[in-house]
Amino acid sequence: MSVSARFRHVASGTAAAGAARVQPAGGAGQDTRVGETACPAGGRPVRSARHRAAVYPARPRGKGSGPAHDCDVVVVGGGPAGAAAAARLAARGFATILVDRATFPRDKVCGDFVGPAALAELADLGVTGAEAFAAANTIGQCALHVDGDPLGALPIPRVGALPAHGRVIPRRHLDAWVLDAARRAGATVAAGRKVTAVEQAPGAVTVRGRSAAGPWQLRGRLLLGADGSNSLIARAVRGTPPRQDRIAAVRAYFDDVAGPAGRADICLRGDSFPGYCWLFPCGGGQANVGVGMVVSTYPQAGRNLRELLLRLIAEDPLMRHRLRGARIRGKIGGCPLTTYNPRLPLVGDRIMLLGDAAGLINPLNGEGIQYALHSARWGADLAADRLSCGRLDAASLAAYEQHVHDHLRRDMAFSRLVVQLIRNRALNPFWLSATRIVAARVRTDPDYAHRIACVLTGLAPATRTLGLSVVAKTAGQTMTSALPGPATRRPARRGQPGHPAPQPSPNTIAGTARHTLTSREFADWAAGVGRALTELTAQGRRGCRPGPSRPGAKAG
Ligand SMILES: Cc1cc2nc3c(=O)[nH]c(=O)nc-3n(C[C@H](O)[C@H](O)[C@H](O)COP(=O)(O)OP(=O)(O)OC[C@H]3O[C@@H](n4cnc5c(N)ncnc54)[C@H](O)[C@@H]3O)c2cc1C
Repeated sequence: MSVSARFRHVASGTAAAGAARVQPAGGAGQDTRVGETACPAGGRPVRSARHRAAVYPARPRGKGSGPAHDCDVVVVGGGPAGAAAAARLAARGFATILVDRATFPRDKVCGDFVGPAALAELADLGVTGAEAFAAANTIGQCALHVDGDPLGALPIPRVGALPAHGRVIPRRHLDAWVLDAARRAGATVAAGRKVTAVEQAPGAVTVRGRSAAGPWQLRGRLLLGADGSNSLIARAVRGTPPRQDRIAAVRAYFDDVAGPAGRADICLRGDSFPGYCWLFPCGGGQANVGVGMVVSTYPQAGRNLRELLLRLIAEDPLMRHRLRGARIRGKIGGCPLTTYNPRLPLVGDRIMLLGDAAGLINPLNGEGIQYALHSARWGADLAADRLSCGRLDAASLAAYEQHVHDHLRRDMAFSRLVVQLIRNRALNPFWLSATRIVAARVRTDPDYAHRIACVLTGLAPATRTLGLSVVAKTAGQTMTSALPGPATRRPARRGQPGHPAPQPSPNTIAGTARHTLTSREFADWAAGVGRALTELTAQGRRGCRPGPSRPGAKAG
């Protein structure tokens, strides 16, 4: 039966009998169900039969009527975070309904790069076995270009049992595959339903919306907010995120792209830094090409990222080379992203936030799919335990928040510091020179290269991987590069010999436009650096966790 048919059927009330009823409970977040008894932490659901789930048309509740649950878990958002969490909870026997405003398969603006850690999560969900998945384009190395100079290509390193490659998978396919895993596990997927309101009440949490058939509502014992970067559920829990925490990005697909399908390219340019441009091949001569930029820079960078992308495609030598015979397919799509902020809550009474809704985006590279999938696993583990015990108040769910912070906070604090530093566009020449120095060392030092690659691909915590040896080697490389000779020469460009770097002009340094900050801008920037440094130092004192725990399954 199709989902819409099921909805109509339920709206007539015939499925209501299948929905379990609960007794009113005392606390805002505590309940008990028929067939459930309190269990120790770490316990499993005690029910064996999965309860039927239903979406009811909105109706006034009778005076004195107790809270009724249409299901155990309502998941809002069918991206990787929501679909993975729904799959994990449904597989454990919890009645799970996932609601998404879109109908699937749907497009989602993204760079589509799925790193090794995310691949391991997908393998654990049973997504990677399909033939179509195996056909998704594999990326074995990532090349960096600064002001048109190729600085070298880093192979994606092997870390533990993780694959030494990433994949570029258009989200139209990836998200539909993860959602299929949720369906197979027994979750009900209600697509084409936009949630417009959320209400916490004793014993239940309710989401509401309106569809062509009229208003609807859905009551669950627990709500997982996985509705992306502009999350309605997150606003209910944590308010509007600060502007400083935002990055913006746009992307477009191109056909007939030249160059190796197994290499991802990142381009930095003095006139657009701290923006960065990427070209991620999707296979079959197609590529995802985009640009990302922190929203708040000093002085403010131009805001029109679509124009910036088109300009970079026209002017950057690497982009011109790879896109020389290419055609754009569809529109340039854009989306702001809310990055990680450790001060904002991730849980409320009966509510947990996952993925982008929780701001689990690395501010340094905009990567979020692996964190969406990690948070789905962490959230589902804790939710299963708390649902079984009937303890769903914010304090009982706080262990999830703690888990996320323990695993991500220190590394994200490092990324926040780096991002805060590079917001100062007056220092662009310095940052790009530093990038060249790091790249020069990468070319000659395999251990250094491995560490840098691990950090760039999110495979290992930056704070643990970089360490004093990397700092010392970078300092040594800086001294070497300052000496006259081959080290100051630009690396060879595609078969051409290296050439001496140009002399700085009064207005540019190696092609980098000069920017000047007002004293107010400088003070704001310096205060931000101070805050980011304080946060990183505080995290350093807390000790370090090994980074996101990985599922053990072989990844695809
Ligand atoms: C331009 C760009 C490039 C990126 N590149 C990469 C990359 O290469 N690699 C990477 O790892 N990450 C990348 N990211 C980040 C990545 O896209 C996100 O981290 C990832 O999509 C998070 O998944 P999610 O499930 O949390 O949210 P989403 O994938 O955003 O899913 C949220 C879902 O919620 C639904 N929804 C929203 N509001 C409602 C509502 N009110 N009612 C019902 N449903 C609702 C939406 O329809 C959507 O399906 C990029 C982001 C952008 C913008």
